[in-house]
Amino acid sequence: MKTTKCTECGAEIPLNYIVCPHCKGRCRSNRFRQKAMIFAFCLGFVGVHNFYMGFLGKGILEACVFTLSLVFLIVGLATNTVFLTAFGIVIMLCSFADAITEGVFLYTKKWSRDHFGKKLLEQPKQEKEQAKLKRA
Ligand SMILES: [Zn+2]
Repeated sequence: MKTTKCTECGAEIPLNYIVCPHCKGRCRSNRFRQKAMIFAFCLGFVGVHNFYMGFLGKGILEACVFTLSLVFLIVGLATNTVFLTAFGIVIMLCSFADAITEGVFLYTKKWSRDHFGKKLLEQPKQEKEQAKLKRA
């Protein structure tokens, strides 16, 4: 079994334990890094990955910015205002770029901690392999 050190007391504990059996401290996040990454790539432009990891403020900000870009785009198109349309598109592209950048950070583990500063869980490889076997 793979083990890791508890961030609170330093005891060796199984890799995916969320609560340490020695000090009862919360030693890891209860969220998966891989899931956060998928959220970032698929729905990151509305901040879903940030909501998932507990960064509520950041998630709300991202959702607001994207909604705003949509409003600019729709109003711009409806009123035939090139400036508003272009502005909406630029903000929207920034939203996408931000989400993809954060997705890449999660992928490369540059970003691997949740809102509480706890390390995100790793999807156990075994489970993935078992899932593959089941599918085959
Ligand atoms: Zn501990």
